[in-house]
Amino acid sequence: MKDCIFCKIANNIIDVDKIYENKDLIAFNDMNPQAPFHILIIPKKHISTINDLENTDKRLIGELFIAAKKIAYKNKISDSGYRLIFNCNENGGQTVFHIHLHMLAKRKMSWPPG
Ligand code: AMP
Ligand code: ZN
Repeated sequence: MKDCIFCKIANNIIDVDKIYENKDLIAFNDMNPQAPFHILIIPKKHISTINDLENTDKRLIGELFIAAKKIAYKNKISDSGYRLIFNCNENGGQTVFHIHLHMLAKRKMSWPPG
């Protein structure tokens, strides 16, 4: 997708602080962090919203969570804990239309979310 900012990040057109990468996905620091640790894990494939997922994306979505688990271990936050969030469309608070898994940690999260 030509005008998608996260496609540009996935294709190294825009430079970011990379946390983790493999052939399917990339993780990087959120530029407006909402916690001391706030990263985004995105598939390299462009998918606009969770509504656009197809059955063939099942493995890819699983990979995002496996990456989160590995990143948690490497950053020593597995035991203290973290929050994983996908926002979808307006009421979900989605502003970038390329799916991304938020991973927040290193502070106590409130519940329910605002
Ligand atoms: P959402 O509101 O769920 O769509 O989240 C989009 C997130 O992307 C926000 O937390 C932004 O701070 C973050 N973001 C947008 N552009 C960039 C960028 N170029 N580098 C890092 N984070 C970004
Ligand atoms: Zn994209």
